[in-house]
Amino acid sequence: MSSTEDLDYPQILFQYNNGFLVSKIMFTACELGVFDLLLKSEGSLSSDAIAERLGTSISGMERLLDACVGLKLLEVEMKSEGAFYRNTELSNLYLTKSSPKSQYHNLMYYSKTVYLCWHYLTDAVRDGKNQYERAFGVSSKDLFGALYRSEEEMIQFMYGLNAIWSICGRDVIAAFDLSPFTVIYDLGGCAGGLAQECISLYPKSTVTIYDLPKVVQVAKERFVPPEERQITFHEGDFFKDPIPEADLYILARILHDWADGKCMQLLTKIYKACKPGGGVLLVETLLNEDKTGPLEAQLYSMNMLVQAEGKERTPTEYSKLLAAAGFREIQVKKTGKLYDAILGRK
Ligand code: SAM
Repeated sequence: MSSTEDLDYPQILFQYNNGFLVSKIMFTACELGVFDLLLKSEGSLSSDAIAERLGTSISGMERLLDACVGLKLLEVEMKSEGAFYRNTELSNLYLTKSSPKSQYHNLMYYSKTVYLCWHYLTDAVRDGKNQYERAFGVSSKDLFGALYRSEEEMIQFMYGLNAIWSICGRDVIAAFDLSPFTVIYDLGGCAGGLAQECISLYPKSTVTIYDLPKVVQVAKERFVPPEERQITFHEGDFFKDPIPEADLYILARILHDWADGKCMQLLTKIYKACKPGGGVLLVETLLNEDKTGPLEAQLYSMNMLVQAEGKERTPTEYSKLLAAAGFREIQVKKTGKLYDAILGRK
């Protein structure tokens, strides 16, 4: 009656069912500072000691630590005095605040904002639109007005989004030889993580971070050191204000925010501003043409539904948008990481 494959079905089902429990355990251990404490203490600690130092209940902390062991975020050693916990390599690298590759801020953005929006996923599918009104009581007429509903929320967004470029930034910037392009605008460049990767790989280039005025202010104050001469700033609204002439425009995770009409509006404007021989570099997570995945891109596309106005797209969909705006010689490079690159030339 049942094949070996059938026997795996319940396991898959339970794994999916428990997906959000797993996320929440990781978020909570990060938020409470478990991984930071264990990094600082340079050895293993008992659950009582961790609970005391982090000001939590002993019973809650013991269960959190054991679940982290199950997730391979911690290792446990049984000694005569009891269980002692220490970080795994993954936690030291990605979950501690001080690591250069830390994803702490990204996880906190997921825990405090994305998670709340996903509570209304069913409504988002019914309505076909984002859920800021239900989740936070703010109008979503102006998408970034809703996303940046407070200064604190905007800063969390900036830290959260910036974190990924310490892992994937080099791959997307190196996907094509960008050395012929010396004047580069990173449109919607946010906190500048990708701009930093760009100037480190192409030392002859200058990158201007073009973003909304309040984002540029925070990028200057908190993210880009003032001695960084190769990075400059431009405050503006890329839909309403002029876009200056450049050799290359980077659009990283910009088009996925918007429906096709707005993407066309922006790409057409960029095409007009672009120097002949210049280009546009799209950095996005790409869906397979045959709709089979990758799962990450499909999940992010759902996230665009609950959080934005756009969606993730296939290489063909992006190529069509670029071609309709006038760009030619369109090349797609899959990096094998989370984000891929598409280059179009004028
Ligand atoms: N490119 C960055 C990255 O990948 O980390 C940020 C991507 S984020 C999804 C979108 C960015 O576009 C934000 O920094 C936002 O402030 C900026 N943005 C949104 N609307 C804009 C507009 N009308 N003019 C300029 N920047 C805008």
